[in-house]
Amino acid sequence: MDFKLNQEQQAIQKAARDFAKGEFDKEIALEHERSHTFPEKIWKKACNLNFVGLHFPEKYNGQEYGVFENALIVEEFCRRDSGIGVAISIVDFASEIILRGGTEEQKERYLIPITKGEAISCGAFTEPDHGSDITLMNTTAVKKGDEYIINGVKTFITNGTRGDFVIVLCQTDREANPTYRGQSLIIVDKGTPGFTARDIGEKMGIKMTSTAELSFNDVRVPASNLVGQENKGFYQALEFFDESRIEIAAQALGIAQGAFDRAVAYCKERTQFNKKIAEFQVTKHKLADMATKIETARLLVYKAAWNFDQGNIDPKLTSMAKFYAARVAVEVAEEAIQLFGGYGYMLEYEVERFYRDARITEIYEGTKEIQKNTIASSLLGKF
Ligand SMILES: Cc1cc2nc3c(=O)[nH]c(=O)nc-3n(C[C@H](O)[C@H](O)[C@H](O)COP(=O)(O)OP(=O)(O)OC[C@H]3O[C@@H](n4cnc5c(N)ncnc54)[C@H](O)[C@@H]3O)c2cc1C
Repeated sequence: MDFKLNQEQQAIQKAARDFAKGEFDKEIALEHERSHTFPEKIWKKACNLNFVGLHFPEKYNGQEYGVFENALIVEEFCRRDSGIGVAISIVDFASEIILRGGTEEQKERYLIPITKGEAISCGAFTEPDHGSDITLMNTTAVKKGDEYIINGVKTFITNGTRGDFVIVLCQTDREANPTYRGQSLIIVDKGTPGFTARDIGEKMGIKMTSTAELSFNDVRVPASNLVGQENKGFYQALEFFDESRIEIAAQALGIAQGAFDRAVAYCKERTQFNKKIAEFQVTKHKLADMATKIETARLLVYKAAWNFDQGNIDPKLTSMAKFYAARVAVEVAEEAIQLFGGYGYMLEYEVERFYRDARITEIYEGTKEIQKNTIASSLLGKF
């Protein structure tokens, strides 16, 4: 047992922290928050410094690191700024599906541009009628000759209007029983005729990423855009969630830490009744509770990431990390608002934005209820 980061991991963590400190300027963040725009320049710089896709193999321009090292970066980025951190950490969303199951040609074509800051990916699972339950998709892909013809609608797709390609979960066999044995993952490039993306509109948080509805109207793609095997898409998606939920948990952990950092600084600075508010015992206890929750979440997130990199894929542990870190992020950010008093309610003081950004981590990549279902079914087994 060794709870210490090794030297390389410490160096990655420090590099991510220094980069975020230097680049994630508060005023720039507020500008992107208000205009709902993606931080393009910061994203490019992050890619130039190899912070994106460092868990990809070297031949795809990655650094051969693991999910653990990636989580360290995501944590540091979200700690410095929840909005920019989430936006940058999610530019490669779902690309791991190609990494695990794609052909050599697909990996070269899609993964390398992501690491170079030349492409952004999307993963489209959710539909208007199918969110938590993705065992049946209304979006269909019918094979004709050497093409698939895709029809349907996906919703809530992160990077939807900005992304360069999307990996779409489609029903390829409508007769399959159970239905999830008839699903496949297919890549659709931006600009393919019949494929359109429309921003869904105003949302509570993560305003620097677009959230879109994608429409597929007789979209024809080469059959070679299938990722992995036909009708195995559901299983590939579940495997992907085992990995991606760790990244969302790392987002939550970073957001919690960032809200806490700000609260500590403010409590040592703000005076009421001739005392720093940090001198009130109730404040001290609040900070102690917040710090303890964050440390507990960190242990779970690091353990889930480490386990994954050891090849011990454990959906129960991943769901525990995602559910718990997300809850901690929401609770800590909420308490931070309280410690800031009225100022905490104002955009300028950041913690309300951390709170709003934290909230999505309890919803996307599987709601907290779905995480608890996964944990419980693993605990109970068949009975
Ligand atoms: C900002 C944002 C970005 C997103 N990005 C993406 C993306 O990039 N790609 C993508 O595919 N999707 C994305 N999503 C969709 C997200 O993953 C879904 O919203 C989520 O999985 C829940 O689905 P739903 O909204 O249809 O809610 P529903 O599934 O309808 O759930 C409604 C409520 O019922 C509960 N519930 C449902 N089933 C059960 C059950 N069996 N047991 C207990 N409770 C249950 C849920 O927990 C929830 O509280 C995004 C969503 C948002 C808001």
